[in-house]
This record gives sequence, C-alpha cells and structure tokens, in this order.
Amino acid sequence: MIKLHDLKFVPFITEDEIITAIDKISAQLNKDLANKNPLFIGVMNGAFMFASELIKRFEHDCEVSFIKLASYQGTKTTDQVSELIGLNEDISGRTVVVIEDIVDTGTTVAVLSEMLNDKGCAAVKIATLFFKPEAYTKQIHIDYFGFKIPNRFIVGYGLDYNGLGRNLTDVYQLKSNNMTNLVLFGPPGAGKGTQAEVLKQKYDLVHISTGDVFRYNIKNATELGTLAKSYIDKGQLVPDEVTINMLNAEVDKNPNAKGFIFDGFPRTEAQADALAQFLSSKATAVSAMVALEVDDEVLVQRLLERGKTSGRPDDADETVIRNRIKVYYDETAILKNYYQKEDKYFGVDGVGAVDEITERLSKVIDTL
Ligand code: AMP
Repeated sequence: MIKLHDLKFVPFITEDEIITAIDKISAQLNKDLANKNPLFIGVMNGAFMFASELIKRFEHDCEVSFIKLASYQGTKTTDQVSELIGLNEDISGRTVVVIEDIVDTGTTVAVLSEMLNDKGCAAVKIATLFFKPEAYTKQIHIDYFGFKIPNRFIVGYGLDYNGLGRNLTDVYQLKSNNMTNLVLFGPPGAGKGTQAEVLKQKYDLVHISTGDVFRYNIKNATELGTLAKSYIDKGQLVPDEVTINMLNAEVDKNPNAKGFIFDGFPRTEAQADALAQFLSSKATAVSAMVALEVDDEVLVQRLLERGKTSGRPDDADETVIRNRIKVYYDETAILKNYYQKEDKYFGVDGVGAVDEITERLSKVIDTL
C-alpha cells in the first residue's frame, strides 16, 4: 500500500501486465496504420509514459506531438475541459492517433475529436491505456484500449492524485475506505486480550473479543449465553452461525468506528468468509491478520497462572486448556494459510514484555 497526500492506495495493475497490454495495442497499430504515416498526439501530462512505450513499438513512419487539455481536478472528474495547447502541426488529411492515459467520462476525447475533425484530419483514432466503461457517457468509439477498469480512482504510470504518483510504474487504486480492521490472532493465552487493550487506545479502534461477549452473555444469563456455555465449558468452538450473527451485531453497534480489532474471531474458514463478506458490504475489508506466536508449554503455564485470578473455569483446568490449544491447531490455525494467500498474514513473536510485543505489532500496523 502507498500513501499520496492524505489518501491510501492499494496495488491494482502491475507494470508487467501493463507492458503486455501495450505490446498488444502496438501489434494492432502496426497492422492497422503501416502505410498511413500517422501523427501520434499524446495528451499531457498523464499519457507521457504510455505514449512513450507505445510509440517506441511503432515500426513505420510516424510523427509525434504532445498537447495539453486537462479535465481532472482531485479525484472527481469535472465537466470543464480547458483549451487545446501545443498543436502546431497541420493535420488536414492526416491520420491522427490520440494517446490518452485514461478515458473516464469521455469529455476529453469527445472535445478533442471534435477539434481535430474541425481541423480537417482524415481520421481520428483513440488509444487509451485505461477505459472506464461504467463512467463513459460519449458515443465516440474507443479504438484501442489496454484495460477496461471499474469506476475507481487510480494513480501511477503517468496518472496522478493532485500532482503525485505519476512516476509509479505500477498502477494503484484508491483504498475504498481508510478503516483499519485487524484480526488479532494466536492460540489461547498468546496475549491477544492484553495487546488489544493497548492497540485499541493507540489506534483508536473498537475491540471486539468474541470470548468476552460470550462471557458477558453467560454472566447475564441471556439466550445466547445459555447456548454458548456448554461449548465454552468444554473448550470447544461455539457453532459458526451463532458466532457470526453475534459478531455482525457487535460491529453494527459501532457505525462510526475507524476500524476494529477482532480478537478471537474468525476461528474457522466459514467465519473468515463471513467476515470478508460482511466487511465488503460496508465497503471495507480485513487489513491484516497479526498473529502472536507463542510456544505451547508457555501457553499452558500462562493460562494456569491466569486461571488463579481470572475466574474463568476454562482457564482453571489443564485438560480444558490443552483442548483449547488443540482446537486452535485443528480448526483455527488453517486461517494462517487463508490470510497468507491474500498477503495479509503477519506473524509476530509473542514472547517478551508487553510493551516490547506492542512495539512489534505496531511495526506491522504502521505499514498498513
Ligand atoms: P477466548 O476468550 O477467545 O479464549 O474464547 C473463549 C471461548 O469462547 C472459546 O474456547 C470458544 O468456546 C468460544 N469462542 C470465542 N470465540 C469464538 C469463535 N470465533 N468461534 C467459536 N467459538 C468461540
């Protein structure tokens, strides 16, 4: 992820993919315009990188010019297009290829096409690296494009956000919202609760511990509590459906949260899928799984020690403790793989002083 001015952007299209797309367009241009001596007109500033790569690959006679015609301000497209600057060539009777970085609403290409046709050129072709069909409102045919993309704001490969980002060789899209949602992970006794308390203050996040919510419900003898108690007492997992509904309700209680620390959730793949779906319905996602890694025997000792004061029956019995750790490895540890596949897994050494471990976690969180 990268930050430009106040906004965060996430990777979208790699330079390799862009080059492949440019190779394809170039092959087509070489075929279509071999004997036309076309005039390539790059639209500044955004198209400079694309224009350069495209024109390099043209193997026949051609001429090159650049013009300026800005239509972007910030992340919103405005309908005002300024004047055409820089076209000194006589274009009457010529085949012109307009090279654009992106075609969005289409205002720029529409105005440009009209201006070029008015100057009497024989044909105007449009070549753009990116094309947003959902945003496009004009009729002009887009002859060559590299990628059709959804209607999101992108930067890189010539495209900018308020001046920054043009030099990036990969393309990034605006992070849909800037929430930080952490899955704090690790076996029972790894110190998730302790760290969550510190991190929620430090990053202004809402901490949801499914274990705490269950215990609160057991204490208050709610229906949910009664349902969960039999599982918890044995160190088993509460059924997914119950846990997922409970979690969703907890998230919904905090509509203005800057983000969440999920502690003890998800514990199964079904819960991880449900969380992804639920967060995506709120235009956000899990930012990272940060996992505290602690040796089993250290865990057992920690939990027995905690059991002396926590009042938790599942901490007082070594058999239940060992079962909770076993359940973790049998059912929960697979989630490491789940988040690794999404490049979201970060393991952190969970042995040491509380503030040392916080520092290790913060190092990860600060890069998100
Ligand atoms: P914890 O406080 O996180 O160690 O959780 C205590 C107990 O609550 C667990 O041993 C489970 O029985 C139950 N529990 C907590 N979170 C979940 C979850 N995500 N899915 C199923 N059961 C859970």
